[in-house]
Amino acid sequence: MATKSALTQQLGVVVGFDDPRVDLEQYRTPPELAAHLVHTADLQGDVEGKTVVDLGCGTGMLALGAALRGPESVVGLDIDPAPLATARENERRIATASAVSWVRGDATEAPLCPDTETTVIMNPPFGAQQGNEHADRAFLATAADIADVSYSIHNADSADFVEAFAGDNGGEVTHAFRAEFDLPHSFDFHDQERRNIDVEVFRIEW
Ligand code: SAH
Repeated sequence: MATKSALTQQLGVVVGFDDPRVDLEQYRTPPELAAHLVHTADLQGDVEGKTVVDLGCGTGMLALGAALRGPESVVGLDIDPAPLATARENERRIATASAVSWVRGDATEAPLCPDTETTVIMNPPFGAQQGNEHADRAFLATAADIADVSYSIHNADSADFVEAFAGDNGGEVTHAFRAEFDLPHSFDFHDQERRNIDVEVFRIEW
């Protein structure tokens, strides 16, 4: 298996959102965090030979990370066609061995029904901006429907919510780790140039 730092370096060329939409909470996951998530998933045996689905894939950071680690197939799904076009360019830039299927669709409608062992990876909208708490709930519901295992990024202090949601839907949180998310100045209402937000990543067996 290649190292995490090699993966971080490869993902460094993944371009983010041209014109990020606030309503869809479009932030690119930093390459370090994406590499950490994918490498951890790979060590757990959740990538190689699996169908990997990135719900809300944006410009493809997580899907492309998975595509570099020998999956059976990768699907990147997003509701907005603009970042999907960038994701295709990113795929060409990285030249992954496995091709990614980029699909436009609503991740909250469980639009896929994979027939092989499936791992969902995602950095869903948190709902924090709109005061619409736990917009990530509907994404977790899709993971519960289609995945054997999921890895999801949430804002800090989500453990109680995620554990309760998993428990209510036949899942169990098996691993969790904290990370920092360096948010570039992409939205006008952010007054600082950059800021770090604390996030938590959960592995759930469904
Ligand atoms: N996964 C990417 C992008 C994260 S930002 C990365 O890690 O870099 C969240 C993404 O979810 C955005 O691309 C946004 O367009 C997408 N999104 C928001 N609501 C969605 C929905 N209902 N269905 C599918 N995608 C959605």
